[in-house]
Amino acid sequence: MTRFFLTMVLALWALAGFAQAPELSALARLDPSRSAVQARQDGLVLELGLSQPVPYRAYLLDAPPRLVMDFRELDFGAIAPADLRGADLLGDLRWGRFRPGWTRLVAELPGPMALSEAVEDTAGDAQIRVRLDPVPASQFPARSGAPESALWDLPQPAVTDPPHRRQDGATPLRVILDPGHGGIDPGAEADGHSEAVLVLTFARDLKEAMTRAGMEVLLTREEDVFVPLETRITVARAAGADLFLSLHADALAEGEATGATVYLLDAAAQDEASQKLAERHDRADLLAGVDLEGHDDAVAGVLMDLARAETQPRSLRLAQVLAGAIKSEGLKMHRHPVQGADFSVLKSPDIPSILLELGFMSSEADRARLLSAEWRGRMAAALVAGIQRWAQADAAEARLLRQ
Ligand SMILES: [Zn+2]
Repeated sequence: MTRFFLTMVLALWALAGFAQAPELSALARLDPSRSAVQARQDGLVLELGLSQPVPYRAYLLDAPPRLVMDFRELDFGAIAPADLRGADLLGDLRWGRFRPGWTRLVAELPGPMALSEAVEDTAGDAQIRVRLDPVPASQFPARSGAPESALWDLPQPAVTDPPHRRQDGATPLRVILDPGHGGIDPGAEADGHSEAVLVLTFARDLKEAMTRAGMEVLLTREEDVFVPLETRITVARAAGADLFLSLHADALAEGEATGATVYLLDAAAQDEASQKLAERHDRADLLAGVDLEGHDDAVAGVLMDLARAETQPRSLRLAQVLAGAIKSEGLKMHRHPVQGADFSVLKSPDIPSILLELGFMSSEADRARLLSAEWRGRMAAALVAGIQRWAQADAAEARLLRQ
C-alpha cells in the first residue's frame, strides 16, 4: 500500500511538471541574497537560491576544468556574474541564455575537481547546492562533452550539404548576417553595454536595409541567445548562402584603436592583435561549454582546400569593396582597414565570408557611434552599396568562367 502510494505521488509530480512546462512566462528567478560561492575545506560549495524549483543538470568539462550547469527557464535577470558573492573563488564565471528556454552557467574551476554533491531543495525556498572537491589531474572525471540526453539536447543541424552553386545574379543575393556572441557569451562589455546586444541591433537595421535593396537576408540569431560557432556556419550552408557577414565590435585592452575593420580568413595571420581577437572568439565557445572537435576533419580536406582556393579571392575582393564603401560614406575606419585573422566562423569553404568589426567597444567614440541610429543607418547604407557593387562584378565573373 505504501509502495503504491509513493508511485502515485511520483506520477502526480511528473504530470504537474508536464502541465507547467509550456508556461514559459513563469520563469524562475535567481535570488542573489541566497546565492554564493564558498570555500569549504579544500573544496567549493556553490549555492543558488531560486524563486521556484527548475529542472537542471550539472557536469564537468576539461581544458580548462570547468563546471557547466544547464537550467530550464531560469532567469538571471540583470544580476552580473561578478555580483555573485564569492565569485572570485572561481575563474571566468558567466551565465546567460544558451538556447531559447534554457540558461547555462559556466564556471572555470581553480583546478581539477570532482562533483561530490548536486542537490536541489524543492521544499520551501528552492535552492540548488553543488559541492566540488579537488582531485588529482589524472582523476578529473571530465567528459568530452555534455552528457547525452533527449530531454536536454536538441538535434544538431546537418553539417554536409551539396556545394552551393556560385551566384550569377539570376536570383536575389542570399546573405547570412551573423551577429556575434549572444546569451551566455556577451562578447566585449563596456559602460553597461555588451557587444552581443549592440551587434544584434545593427544586424536588424542592416537586414532591413538589405531587404529593401532586394536581397534575401537571414540572421544566425534573432535574439540574445548563444549560438555555437559551428552552428553559425551550418546555418549559412543550409540556407545556401551567397555571402556570410559576421558582425562584431570587440574591445582591445591596449592601444587606442578606433574605427571599423574588415577581416577575412588567414589561418597564418601573425599579427598579435588579430590573433588575440581570434583566440577570444574561439575561447568564448569553449567557455560556453561547447567543444569544437575537429569540425574540419569531418569534411574531405582536399575538396575543402579546392573550394577555398576559389572562394578566397572572392572574399578578398568583397573585403576591399566593403572597406572602400565605408570610407566613401565618410565613416571612420581603422588605419589598417582590411586584415586577415584565423576566425573559425570564416571557414566555410565555398561561401565568401567576411567578419566586420564595426568599431571597438573599448573606444568611447566608437561606442557612441554604435548607439546612434543615424550612424547605424549610414553604415548599413554603405554596406548595401558595397555588397551590390561586389555582387555585380562577382556575377559577371561567374558568367565569364562558365563560358
Ligand atoms: Zn566579437
